[in-house]
Amino acid sequence: MTYAAFYQQSIQEPATFWDQEAKLIDWKEPYTQVLDYSRPPFAKWFVGGQTNLCYNAVDRWLATQADKAALIAISTETNTENVYSFAELDREVQRMAAIMLGLGVVQGDRVLIYMPMVAEAAFAMLACARIGAVHSVVFGGFASKSLATRIDDAKPVLIVSADAGMRGGKAVPYKPLLDEAITLAQHKPAKVLLIDRGLDPMPLVAGRDVAYATLREQHLDAKVPVTWLESNAISYILYTSGTTGNPKGVQRDVGGYAVALASSMKHIFGGNPGETYFATSDIGWVVGHSYIVYGPLIAGMATIMYEGTPIRPDAGIWWSIVEKYKVTRMFSAPTAIRVLKKHPSELMKKYDLSSLKALYLAGEPLDETTSSWISGELGVPIIDNYWQTETGWPILSVARGIENTATRLGSPGVAMYGYKVSIINENTGAECAANEKGVLAIQGPLPPGCLQTVYGDDQRFVQTYWSNFAHEQLYSTFDWGIKDADGYYFILGRTDDVINVAGHRLGTREIEESISSHPQISEVAVVGVEDKLKGQVAVAFAILKHPEMVVSEEGRRALEAEVMAVVDKQLGAVARPSRVHFVAMLPKTRSGKLLRRSIQAICEGRDAGDLTTIEDPASLLQIKAAVIA
Ligand code: AMP
Repeated sequence: MTYAAFYQQSIQEPATFWDQEAKLIDWKEPYTQVLDYSRPPFAKWFVGGQTNLCYNAVDRWLATQADKAALIAISTETNTENVYSFAELDREVQRMAAIMLGLGVVQGDRVLIYMPMVAEAAFAMLACARIGAVHSVVFGGFASKSLATRIDDAKPVLIVSADAGMRGGKAVPYKPLLDEAITLAQHKPAKVLLIDRGLDPMPLVAGRDVAYATLREQHLDAKVPVTWLESNAISYILYTSGTTGNPKGVQRDVGGYAVALASSMKHIFGGNPGETYFATSDIGWVVGHSYIVYGPLIAGMATIMYEGTPIRPDAGIWWSIVEKYKVTRMFSAPTAIRVLKKHPSELMKKYDLSSLKALYLAGEPLDETTSSWISGELGVPIIDNYWQTETGWPILSVARGIENTATRLGSPGVAMYGYKVSIINENTGAECAANEKGVLAIQGPLPPGCLQTVYGDDQRFVQTYWSNFAHEQLYSTFDWGIKDADGYYFILGRTDDVINVAGHRLGTREIEESISSHPQISEVAVVGVEDKLKGQVAVAFAILKHPEMVVSEEGRRALEAEVMAVVDKQLGAVARPSRVHFVAMLPKTRSGKLLRRSIQAICEGRDAGDLTTIEDPASLLQIKAAVIA
């Protein structure tokens, strides 16, 4: 079948199409309706069907490949490597599930997971899935305020965490940040389950904190049956940044997600049972959920969890892993490849990479230089794929499992099956002509695997994502794009104030709120500025309450460091601006709206754009002067 025909069927007869794809997973009870779209834009997939993500990821492989590798946890930080077979993974997940049940977690309860990249994090996610608890994984790089916001929104009964992670040879303590977050949060979790890696002393709070090792010993022979869940039950919440300071809880279902992952593993990622998959992301991001934990296991593959950097002990480390575990499919982000490009290629050439069939890159725009370089080095197809936390699996890519569609430099590819993608003129709401810039939108129903709603806030789901265009209710990706005459899309940046630093999505509003909490700052604007390595970096322009207090260059530098430290402490180093400039005024419209886009343009040496509405043009000169200085 051609991809065009496959795609057309998915759009014209979605029920028939997804009924077929749903055979890729195991169901306890069959569904009675493939799609219920009676209340748009809320789509319900596989209504009435009963299944379980943990069952599909682990249990169903026990009959055929119990002794094959399932989870390979590698840390170049602690120099440890643990391989868990499907049978061993099953045992560990059942132990973790028994611990959770013992701590009072029941079906539908939220469990927040704030963990480094260790095997126990995957056990915890799968254990939640097994017992029908809803996990909410928070990226370990986030600090106490980010964590507190998420605790208050998800209201977990249990938090699973650890003493510390490790990065670049240094322990990064988690427990003190967690304790502070719980102090800051209104909601208090009843229990905190702690994995002690022996990296950082960890006093336990009496009555609340419990040690994983002790409880695991008590549950070594635990048997916890799978809780069968209706397809539309909630599997997890994953927070993502938007235009406000409050992150949105992307809520996902069970059956639709399992089908979407099984299907994308087959048609897009081409993984087969018994092979090894290596995604270099983190479980705190959507790639970690879909293509470190659930996707590869659902496909019967071994999956690698990697703690460490791409260049330690040297830039050959990832390739040595590919050789050792005969990785067939690898998934990373352009920033990581740009980092590797700075190191001698011999470090890559040393290893036998003949097992590798393709490298998938996502999370940020893939520039042609990076793509061509890595393609030349590896000699395998480089498959760009574009998607979002909200969708859970690729919107744009090439589905080589169906047809050997050509890739095009600079384009993440064509619309993936199930997604009715269009480029919409933001003013008229009309579809753009070929090669005309507009907003990348998707017509409902979104295919299986995409967000059901914003956790606890259906109205915000409709308001934020589905109310941006005249005439028609369409899902907005908030990305600018164009489609060429052959159906290849090109992504041209965000339409909102979300920035993308090294493939990590951050809200400028959140960073601004954090900086504003510094006692000396009266106002601040944060913008994303182009960066050769990370794609974008955050740059802040702040107005001081008492500018006269900072007279010397030393004083300025000290204050800049202080502001950065506030962001580090509240949000985490991942959100730290690369520069904080102090200015006397910020460019605004007459109605008081910050002109972030003009600031960004100046930072990138471009024209500041349409300034007819600006309140005081002199503010732009200040920005220019600050950037040049
Ligand atoms: P996240 O939800 O963190 O995965 O971020 C999603 C956003 O990252 C998208 O809306 C895009 O702005 C950007 N993005 C993800 N993948 C790509 C890609 N392959 N090319 C260009 N931008 C991408």
